[in-house]
Amino acid sequence: MSLIVGVFAIQGDVYENISSTKTALKELGVEGTVLGVKTAEDVSKLDGLIIPGGESTTIGQLSLVNSSLKTIKEKIEHGMPVLGICAGMIMLSKTANDRIIGKTDQPLLDLLDIKLERNSFGRQKESFETDVSMASINIPKFDGVFIRAPSVSDVGSGVEVLAKFNEKIVAVKKGNMIGVAFHPELTKDVSLHKYFVNLIKKSKTGQI
Ligand code: GLN
Repeated sequence: MSLIVGVFAIQGDVYENISSTKTALKELGVEGTVLGVKTAEDVSKLDGLIIPGGESTTIGQLSLVNSSLKTIKEKIEHGMPVLGICAGMIMLSKTANDRIIGKTDQPLLDLLDIKLERNSFGRQKESFETDVSMASINIPKFDGVFIRAPSVSDVGSGVEVLAKFNEKIVAVKKGNMIGVAFHPELTKDVSLHKYFVNLIKKSKTGQI
């Protein structure tokens, strides 16, 4: 079995995620290909997708224009595992309000039942690194890199909270969808990418 893992390559931390995913596959001894994907056609071939951190308004607008957003939504609805990182978690959400300007009409996938506050910890200059714990998925200590990060202000039923920082929810999971507010691709530790690869493997063999 060989996995095809895509990193949505419209904008943001594309190459860093390709590199972390390749390392994760290697460390796990799982066969697979990791590709940057842009179009609906590229997306349709995937077993799993990472939507990277970057700027959700840009990722949303451009993916709306090239119709890849619609295909991503359909694939996730049919069970394809997805890891949404920072802007990627915003893309997965049902509601995202900016801390300062509130609600906008930015395109979202509207799949993960969470309400988000964008730029929840402040702007670029307030970016920071701190330890986060995702004990329920066996990652008790992880270097969380927060860059203009969102936080989750409300979760719908069935959404598991994986991590909090300062009482704010910063990582969630529901079924085939994982969302994290911090950037796992900017640390050497590929535990979360490994967890995601295993989720894709399980999904491909019908275990989830
Ligand atoms: N603040 C960005 C947004 O709202 C996300 C930042 C990031 O992905 N590092 O889209």
